[in-house]
Order: sequence, then structure tokens, then C-alpha cells
Amino acid sequence: MALIVQKYGGTSVGDVDRIKNVARRVKETRDAGNQVIVVVSARSGVTNDLIARARALNPMPDEREMDMLLTVGEQETIALTAMALHALDVPAVSRTGAQAGILTDPEHTRARITSISGGDVKAQLDAGKVVILAGFQGQSADGQITTLGRGGSDLSAIAIAAALKADLCQICTDVDGVYTADPRLVPNATKLDEISYEEMLELASSGSKVMQNRAVEFAQKFNVIFEVRSSFNNNPGTIVKEEAASMEDVVVSGVALDKNQAKIVASDLPDRPGTAAKLFKALADANISVDMIVQNIGRDGKANMTFTVPREDIYRAEKVVTESFPDEASGKLFEANDIAKVSVVGVGMRSHSGVAAKLFDALAVASINIQLVSTSEIKISVGIDPKDAEEATRVVHTAFGLGQ
Ligand code: ASP
Ligand code: MG
Repeated sequence: MALIVQKYGGTSVGDVDRIKNVARRVKETRDAGNQVIVVVSARSGVTNDLIARARALNPMPDEREMDMLLTVGEQETIALTAMALHALDVPAVSRTGAQAGILTDPEHTRARITSISGGDVKAQLDAGKVVILAGFQGQSADGQITTLGRGGSDLSAIAIAAALKADLCQICTDVDGVYTADPRLVPNATKLDEISYEEMLELASSGSKVMQNRAVEFAQKFNVIFEVRSSFNNNPGTIVKEEAASMEDVVVSGVALDKNQAKIVASDLPDRPGTAAKLFKALADANISVDMIVQNIGRDGKANMTFTVPREDIYRAEKVVTESFPDEASGKLFEANDIAKVSVVGVGMRSHSGVAAKLFDALAVASINIQLVSTSEIKISVGIDPKDAEEATRVVHTAFGLGQ
């Protein structure tokens, strides 16, 4: 008998009919002779709604109370899912994170899991029941309810699968798996049969977000192989696992587009050792994550530094730049523009050359100008004008032969 963890996200449990659909799928899995742990999120929109209500009452709500509030969303869906299974004559019982022994540190709203005892989950499974576990929540050592950061139900699923040594962990969602590009932008994008943890993390950080990144990192650390698949059909999904030698035969696995970036030019900075350190330390202290960086060659003792940040951080970044260099303050110090980032990702880049050349050539042929470039071992990203973003994604996808 295999132990299967199935996680259903907010859209998959979005209303009564969808919860019935989940119950049917869980029943099928159990009828096939498996033990099943179901991890559910709040109905889609519920968590955001609760956050909006909290903010309407208090712009800076207390974080302990925030966790008390937000865990309500998942508690609704675990109970409803159990009831839907009972209606199908499937024995099922719901458990909160605390009841399943998910212990975390005390950092409310962004707690990290410290250990998982499993509580009585195993005993309930052995007694023939389906266990429905509330995603996104845990408990600190002193008994307070905590949450695992937005999208944290993915982490709950991976973590319980690791702790109870599940045979299979399925992340059931509203897409069929991980694609070579966003199928809404690139109609001939194809679903990947498998992908490495690292590629999945790079694709997510480049704009193709299917799952919470912390969950993927956790899976990588504890070597939890999982499948991303649809809640609405039975197509095989994408298996996410440790890199295999054969994966390197494919140079580029996917193209990601992130339209939520801003390019910042801090000009006329003093061209001397320590300037970059000072600027980027100040940005790091403000918790602003910088992605691409270009420093121009200095002239007359001045240099320009160009870098990208998430668009929502433009104003905070502006403040950091002007406050870090008060003496240099001038109208030109700070300039910001929206930018789109197109990235190609693939573990095969480690062993193949010419990826950058091919990428740049594809963009040149389409007359798309590159403003910034950044690279890692398995990723090359270019910053371009947002008006060219979709065309760039398509031409790059074609250039690397990723279309059907
Ligand atoms: N309900 C939580 C959120 O919206 C957790 C999750 O959906 O995974 O962030
Ligand atoms: Mg979610």
C-alpha cells in the first residue's frame, strides 16, 4: 500500500463544486489501494480578502493576530473537504498544522518548520481514514499558531511527505505541469515531463511561478520527488527531482518572462572603491532584492550604476539611493523605468557553449534591444523594453527549438 500526499491549491477548492471534485479524486486514489493525505489551501481569494480586512482595521496589524486570522481560510477548507468525503462514504478526518505536529520557529507570518512529529496522522491512515491537513500553518514551541509565508500550503505538502516518507507527492493545481514557456504567451509551448529542482527555482525566480519557492528548496534539501499536475484532468504532470545526467542533453528547458521589474540608474556616483558595497549593502538592509547589475566605466571620477529591482520596490529603492549618497544628490542621481526580464534556463548550459550567442542573435534578428544582461550557471537573463516582452519570449522559445 502506497502513501500518497495530494495538495490542492486555492482554485482547486475554490467553491463547493470544486471541493466535490477534489473529494472524488481523493476517493479514486484511495479506492486504488492507497493511503492518502490531502493538503489544502484556503479557497482562492480568501487569504487576500482576510488581509484586506485586517488592513482596513489597522494598517500595521499585529503579526500574531494576523496568523490567527489567516489560518481560518485553510480551516474552512479542511472541514468542508472532510464533509465532502463523508458524503461519498469515505472515512476522513481533518487536522490542523498543530494537530499534525508541525512545529515552527516563532516568526509569525513567515515561520520556518523546525520539526514534524506527524501527530496521530499515521495512526488515522492506518485506521483506514483519509487525513485532510490544513496547509500553510504550524505551531511554535510555545503553542502559538504560525503561518509559513504566502503560498505555504505547498511547503506543508512537501514537508509532510518528507516527514512521513510518502511514496508520492502530487501538487495538484490549475495548470497541467511546468511548461517550456507560459502557454498564454507562447501557444506552442510544451509541457515538460521532468525538470530539476534548480531549474524549477530559476524559472520561478524569473517569473514562471507555479509553486512556492521555499517548498521547492525544501524538496531539494530532503530529496522529495514530486509531481506538478492538474486538479481538473488526469494528464501526467511534470516530475520535479534531482538533476539526472540525461537532463543535460537539453540545453534550455524553458523561457521565463518577468514583467514586474524596474531598472534603476544611479548616475554620477563617486568612482572609487566602496561605492558599490555601500549602495548594495543599503539596498540589502532595506530587504530589496537586486537582480541584474551593470556598472559603466567611470569618467571624471564619476560612474553610473544600473540595476533592477522588483517594481513594487522602486520607491523604497529611490529612498535608499538618495539617502546613501546625500552629497552627490542631484536631479540625475536616480532614474527608474519599467523593464521586462526574459530568461532562458537549463542545466545543460553547464556543459554546452553558445547559449548567450544564440539568445542575443534571436533578439537581434527581431530588432529587440538588450539593456542589461545577467547570468548564472544555468540561466541567462536579458532586460528589455516591456513593449517587446512577448515577442522576445516567442522568438527565444523558437530559437531554442522548444516549440512543438
Ligand atoms: N492560503 C495561503 C495563501 O494564499 C497559502 C496557500 O495558498 O498556499 O498564501
Ligand atoms: Mg496557493
